Parts: sequence; structure tokens; C-alpha cells
Amino acid sequence: MQQLNSKIPEGPLADKWSRYKASLRLVSPANKKKLEIIVVGTGLAGASAASALGELGYKVKAFCFQDSPRRAHSVAAQGGINAAKNYKNDNDSIYRLFFDTIKGGDYRAREANVYRAAEVSNLVIDHYTALGVPFARDYGGALDTRSFGGVQVSRTFYAKGQTGQQCLLGAYSSLTRQIAKGTVKMFSRRDMLDLVIVEGKARGIITRNLVSGELERHSAHAVVLATGGYGTVFYLSTLGLGSNASAAWNAHKKGALFANPSFIQIHPTSIPVLNDYQCKLTLMSESLRNDGRVWVSKEKGDKRHPTEIPEEERDYYLERKYPAFGNLVPRDVASRAAKERCDAGYGAGDSGLSVYLDFKDAIDAHGKKAIQDKYGNLFEMYEKITGINPYNQPMRIYPAGHYTMGGLWVDYNLMTTIPGLFAIGESNFSDHGANRLGANSLMQCSGDGYFILPNTIGDYLADEIRTGKIPTDQQPFKEAEKGVEEKIQKFMAIGGRKSASSFHKRLGKIMWDHCGMRRDAEGLQKGKELLNELEEEFWKDLRIPGNDREINQELEKALKVADFFEVGRLMCEDAIQREESCGAHFREEHQTETGEAKRDDKNFAYVAAWEYKGHREKPDMHKEPLRFEHVEIKERSYK
Ligand SMILES: Cc1cc2nc3c(=O)[nH]c(=O)nc-3n(C[C@H](O)[C@H](O)[C@H](O)COP(=O)(O)OP(=O)(O)OC[C@H]3O[C@@H](n4cnc5c(N)ncnc54)[C@H](O)[C@@H]3O)c2cc1C
Repeated sequence: MQQLNSKIPEGPLADKWSRYKASLRLVSPANKKKLEIIVVGTGLAGASAASALGELGYKVKAFCFQDSPRRAHSVAAQGGINAAKNYKNDNDSIYRLFFDTIKGGDYRAREANVYRAAEVSNLVIDHYTALGVPFARDYGGALDTRSFGGVQVSRTFYAKGQTGQQCLLGAYSSLTRQIAKGTVKMFSRRDMLDLVIVEGKARGIITRNLVSGELERHSAHAVVLATGGYGTVFYLSTLGLGSNASAAWNAHKKGALFANPSFIQIHPTSIPVLNDYQCKLTLMSESLRNDGRVWVSKEKGDKRHPTEIPEEERDYYLERKYPAFGNLVPRDVASRAAKERCDAGYGAGDSGLSVYLDFKDAIDAHGKKAIQDKYGNLFEMYEKITGINPYNQPMRIYPAGHYTMGGLWVDYNLMTTIPGLFAIGESNFSDHGANRLGANSLMQCSGDGYFILPNTIGDYLADEIRTGKIPTDQQPFKEAEKGVEEKIQKFMAIGGRKSASSFHKRLGKIMWDHCGMRRDAEGLQKGKELLNELEEEFWKDLRIPGNDREINQELEKALKVADFFEVGRLMCEDAIQREESCGAHFREEHQTETGEAKRDDKNFAYVAAWEYKGHREKPDMHKEPLRFEHVEIKERSYK
């Protein structure tokens, strides 16, 4: 059985990172040139890591499945990126950002990592500004900020509703500079299908060239996964369609522990499902809750047009239930409150599965221009999708699968349980506990990539300077490639009738119904059984047209769906063992009298890190106990 060592440094919380960093071993510039690093993923985490490592002088190979690194899912991030700059003089600080994140995550994250993420947040903003990211500015020219859920300060830096896109363009420009300098070699349209381990260390990957279909071997002295989240396990989600679990899952099957897989965030403000043919849901950024007010009618089944429902007949239920934070309660709280109102019969729209997000008061108070300046592109997007102009009538919103707090377990160095395999950004189990606060992901991804990993990986690589180039004709590479080839042929040989997407859709529904916003033991067990049944059908009736030595998007999808069956089962398993409610993980059996999440700190203040034991075999669970020395652990209240 594997042993967990989180490697949290000793010393006062605020000094841990600087002291630890000073103790890390270095690799000299002459030796860096001899060391190769694979970075899989070019979102904010991967692009920042690859460019920072390239700038340091390492030889980097960067991979993504898109045609350009710029199209990584990070491009979709809308609302903003947090930092503890305290520009608004509203008493913000690194400690307060740390505290809000620990509390927002319902006391299920590691203190030391969270403090470090808050600490480097200010460097991240300075760095992006230096790269030319056009953050919004206030009248005097200083960077402007706004608020996000779960906080009472204004610490979110933003570029209209396109913060991810603008930051990614910044990170991409530094990546491109390294590509031009020759320190980074870019491999786009590559799908990582396996990790190669040589003598216990991560030494390379097997990829499929998505244009030619060829399998390729790539070697390095260390491998970094920055492959994003797996919220697409629900099929309908706010994520990019290509987002998937497969790279992390393949590493898991090779020995990397997977932590808190059931901690998956349901975002409260997505455009609701409009018909049965949708393959994607579109997010309306949480930033909109700075000015938008959330409400439903006080009358059950009210089918009146929202503008015909008078003020006194509206229930601003978030302001009513959570006066201290109002519309800016954290996502898990807002999502459950919306579901509760809709389930009780007060939901809006034909399906009754939506609530209103209304800007009338903000437009009356600040004028249409001010609202347009802050959220113009989001309003346009809403109108394009729904045909409704949100300047004239409220948006309709409903919760949707969004972000995975769970992911590969990493220690303080961001290294997984496989030596030489690192995981950064959304692909690791990260700093967000059981619920991520808005705008904290871009902060973490960029902090991991620019300022943390480039230091910690050096300590590992200091032992590799005498290793020499890693040959790809070694047995472990041959075996890994053979395994991938056989797997692909197994898919191609099924010859059934149904598309990979049709299975994904059904799988997503099972996960949403049984391991979604509310969970109970019986439903979770049922979910596992249904996944097993559907998986059997998948292996009998999947149809992949064409062949595997050409562009074949059906094959690409099928490979991902096959992994989602296993991910889904592990999510259910994890949710079953966690006999408490915390953050986004809400067990019906564990709630307070007022329907809020009821944590059990005595028995469940740990990270659950799972070890793979084979297909359909019961995985082993390892516990990393969480110690809270710098915050008082108490019931989370936003009232
Ligand atoms: C609609 C939306 C809006 C959001 N808005 C915000 C926001 O305002 N603020 C905030 O902080 N967070 C926001 N988030 C969350 C945030 O965008 C993500 O958590 C973050 O961008 C993840 O970045 P990443 O670098 O970890 O991964 P990603 O950006 O998802 O990139 C993953 C990379 O891995 C590559 N990859 C994956 N699998 C493979 C494989 N098998 N082989 C090869 N390459 C692979 C992909 O090609 C890609 O380059 C939002 C999320 C969504 C869905």
C-alpha cells in the first residue's frame, strides 16, 4: 500500500513557502539545458509552466489536443482572477484570501498550500499586467476589481467577461516566445493516451497524433500534467466539449493516487437546459451576481412574464436567507438554494427549472452603459443563445456541472505519488477543498505554473543531471505503446450501432441524477450499478466509423467516454464513504434543520486519496488528515 507524505514544511504559516523555497536545490543553467520536461496541457496552468520552464533554460515539450495552445479550455473563463492586492483598501490581505478559501472550501483543503496560493496571487497579477493583459482599470488608471461569491471584499481582477481569454493570450505570448527561442517544442493535436514509467519514475508519454492517427513515444526527465478538469463527466456542463479526465486517469491507473474525486462544483448561474439536443451549457459568470439580483415568484407555478410579477410578489431568496452575503453567497450554497426553490415548485420558465437573475435595479441605479461596460459580452452571449435581451428582462439561470476540486493527489511540491510526475492547475486536487470560490482557479493555475512548479521541479531534477537522454526504445515505452494500440483495436473491433456521444449523454444523466447536487447512499449505489450496466452495453454496441490511422473524432470521444465510466464509479465510491455534507458534496442524510450542509469534522477532516486496483476492483482509500492550526474550524455560515 502506498504511503502519503504531503511534505508540508515546518515553521510559521506565512514563512513556510519562502523558507522552503530557499532550501530547495537548484539546477545550474548549464545542466538545465540537458534536462527535458514534458508539459501536457496549454491552458493557464500548462502554458504558464511551459513558458516559465523554457525561460529557465530547460528543454520543454508541450502538448495539447487542440490545433492551437490558445484554444485550451482556460480561454472560456469569464469573470476574473483573484489576488490579495487590497487596492480597494477594503481590509483585504493574504491572510483574508487564505481564510476565505479555506472557509469557502468547507475546511477540506490543506492550509499550507492554500496560504501559498494566496501569497503568490499578487505576483500573478503583476506578471500578467507586465505581459500586457488588458485588465479593467478604474478612473484613475489603477487596476479595477470586483467581488465574487463567498467574500466581502473586492479582490477580483477582470477583463470584462473575458478574463480567461485575455490571460491565456498573455500566457500564450510568453509560450510562443519560448517556442521561437527553441526552448519549448510545441506538439498540438496530440492526445496523451498513456504515461510511461521507467524504474519507478515518470519518463514519458504515449500520444496519438490526431491528424495522422500515428502513435508516438516522447521521453523526458519529468512529466507535468496540466490537463484540466473532468466536469464533462456530466455530459452537459459549462466546460469546453473536449475537456476530459483521460490523461489524469491514465496516470491514476499507473499508480498516481486520485484525491476527492466526488468534490465537483455545480455552478449556480448557467443558462438552463433548453432542449434535448444540447451538448453543452453556457455559463453566465458569477461576476454578474455583483449587480444582478436572484429571485423567483412567491407564487407556486407562476407562469406570468417576469416583468409582470410585481416587486412585492418576488422572493429574493438569497438576500432573504443569507443577508450577510446576499446574492454573493458561494456557489454550492447558491446552487442548492436554486434547486430547493425549483423543487418546491417556484421555478421559472416552462420546465420550472430556472430562477431569474435580474439587472433592472442595477441599470436604474448606474445606467445601462455602466452595466454594458462591465458585462457587455455576457449579455450579448445570453441574447444570442436565448433570443432574450437581458437589458429589458431578467436572465433565466440554473445550476450546471462546472469545476472539479478533486483530481490527482499532489504533495507540497505539486508532485503526484509517482516520482517525476507533477500535476498542476485544475488537474490536481488542488487548493479548493470541497468547494472552489469564484476566480480562485485562474489564480491557482497561474500561480502553480509561473511561480510554484518552476521552483519545486528543480529540486527533483537536481538528481537527474547525470541521467542523460531518456531513450524511447526501452521496454516500458514499447509496452505502453503496445497497450495503447491494443486498446484502440479493441474499440475499432466492436462494430456496434451507437455513437460514443449517445453513451456519454446517458452516462452524464446517471451521474447528474445519482452523484450530482444532492446525493444519498441508496442513489449512489444505484448510480454505480447503472454505470456498470451502461458500460457493458458500451463495449458491445459502440460504433466507430472510419479507421484509426486518420482523423477520427469518434475514436477520440470513445476513448474518453470509456474512462468516464471508471471516473464516475470512483466518484460514487468517494461520495458513499464520505458520510457527511461539505461544500459541493451534499449528502441528504447529513443536513442541518434548515437544510444546510452538515460537516463531520471529527470523522471526515481528511483528503481521500484513492489507489487504483484494476477495472471494477474495489480501490484502496488512503487518508491524508487535515490539520487546522491557523483558522478556527467552525460551521460555515453566510447568514
Ligand atoms: C465557462 C467557465 C468559466 C470560468 N470562469 C472562471 C473565472 O472567471 N475565474 C476562475 O478563476 N476560473 C474560472 N473557471 C475555471 C477555469 O477556467 C479552469 O479551472 C481553468 O481554466 C483550468 O485551467 P487548466 O490550465 O488547469 O486546464 P485547461 O485550460 O482546461 O487546459 C487543459 C489543457 O490540457 C490539454 N489536455 C487535456 N487532456 C489532454 C490529453 N489527453 N492529451 C493532450 N492534451 C490534453 C488540453 O488540450 C488543454 O491544453 C471557469 C470555468 C468555466 C467552465
